[in-house]
Amino acid sequence: MENNILQLIYLLASITFIVGLKFLGNPATARKGNLIAAFGMGIAIFGTIFLYKNPENGAGLHNLIFIFAALAIGTVLGFIAAKKVQMTAMPEMVSLFNGMGGACAMLISIIEFQHLSHSLSEPMAAAMALAPGFSSALTGKVLIILAGMVIGSVSFSGSMVAWGKLSGKVKDKSLGQQQFINIGLLLVIFAFAYLVIGGNGENTALFFYLVLALSLLYGILFVLPIGGADMPVVISLLNSFTGVAAAFGGFLYDNKVMLVGGILVGSAGTLLTIVMCKAMNRSLLNVLIGNFGGGAKGEAATSSSFEGSTKEVTASDAAILMRYAKKVIIVPGYGLAVAQAQHVVHDLELLLEAEGVEVKYAIHPVAGRMPGHMNVLLAESNVSYDKLLEMEEINPEFATTDVVLVVGANDVVNPAAKTDPNSPIYGMPILDVENAANVIVNKRSMKAGYAGIENELFFKPKTSMLFGDAKKALTELVNEIKALG
Ligand code: NDP
Repeated sequence: MENNILQLIYLLASITFIVGLKFLGNPATARKGNLIAAFGMGIAIFGTIFLYKNPENGAGLHNLIFIFAALAIGTVLGFIAAKKVQMTAMPEMVSLFNGMGGACAMLISIIEFQHLSHSLSEPMAAAMALAPGFSSALTGKVLIILAGMVIGSVSFSGSMVAWGKLSGKVKDKSLGQQQFINIGLLLVIFAFAYLVIGGNGENTALFFYLVLALSLLYGILFVLPIGGADMPVVISLLNSFTGVAAAFGGFLYDNKVMLVGGILVGSAGTLLTIVMCKAMNRSLLNVLIGNFGGGAKGEAATSSSFEGSTKEVTASDAAILMRYAKKVIIVPGYGLAVAQAQHVVHDLELLLEAEGVEVKYAIHPVAGRMPGHMNVLLAESNVSYDKLLEMEEINPEFATTDVVLVVGANDVVNPAAKTDPNSPIYGMPILDVENAANVIVNKRSMKAGYAGIENELFFKPKTSMLFGDAKKALTELVNEIKALG
């Protein structure tokens, strides 16, 4: 009876995950989607704690004190971290939380391997050589344990490195011939994993822990050389790894909700990875072997500089240009998030619209530091969703635009992505802002963006620089437009 209720709870929880994911697809419903899925996760956790019965001996969960203590610590830490995090530090937090998911999958595998080893009367490999039926069931279980551990530990150590890189604590580093080292390491991991299952029964535990150590190393080496503009793809890929690792946990425990949750995260993460690969013109294979545009190339590119000089514009001249324009497109970037200028940019939009100017926002898929960063930021200040246009939609519109205002964006408007094959961002589709009649770029200095490269756009005759912190500069701009009456 209890088991039937638990299965129903799992079914309900699985449905909330699917509905929640669907709601997450639109900024207007995303918050609700998150709550629905969190509710599903809550009932799945408490249902398991109170209703689960071991099918073999009918015993429920014990160690409840430890379980509740862990739940309480996790809830408090997660709550504080989520409340305190700045919008600009969200990707780091996503990476950190994702790494924790990978670590869970890794620990589950280690514990289950130990249980299995202790429960067998003879060494594991010898047991696997027993009667074929028994052996294949056991081999299947060990395979699932190994798969969950390899994927979980790669996701854990890789996410930790990604977290360090995004917060500036870890620098890009390539060992040279990195893809061969990575492929070699993967082969060694597979070889040891094979020895765990098909070896002669000696040193099974040693091989198992070697697989663990090398998988952790692989996660580090896999993410370490990746730099420049390519981090978002890696974060999304690691996210899908964690989902797959959790799904293996679902297989292991025959737990439907873990399986469904893991598969949803795995497939959503994979789809997002593919979309981002397309947005940045990278192949998934290149991502997998850790060989794409990194910081090394970016550093080389910084030394080159462009001919000509930049032109500065004052807030009052920029105000006149925008106030008397027919159409203005605003390009938000990472600097907008740093300056927390989302509210003032919305004020600017309303003011211009009141003066009869058509205003739209151009959203590049990797603007900011995480997928959807700009959408979330602008939603916070109630910018209407239909004003946010994706790159493919807005690019043809620049040619008929009087003024483009770039706020704290750099890489996503860098023409080198189209013109310079040596650039680390070469091949990444960009916003074609230079097709507009005038381009105003707001940033604090001539410093490079995330990819560490110079931007020729700033030196073009139709570009003017409006230097200053985005919030301050846009506030001045708003005041100047108001003063024009
Ligand atoms: P960039 O990092 O290229 O440029 C941001 C610019 O903002 C900088 O050049 C900086 O110039 C300026 N800036 C910083 N602070 C302020 C401020 N307070 N006021 C005004 N300007 C400021 O950002 P983009 O959004 O153009 O591009 C995103 C980059 O990040 C891409 O390379 C992308 O691949 C990468 N990335 C994206 C992720 C994602 O998922 N979206 C995840 C990880 C990386 P200055 O210092 O002179 O002010």
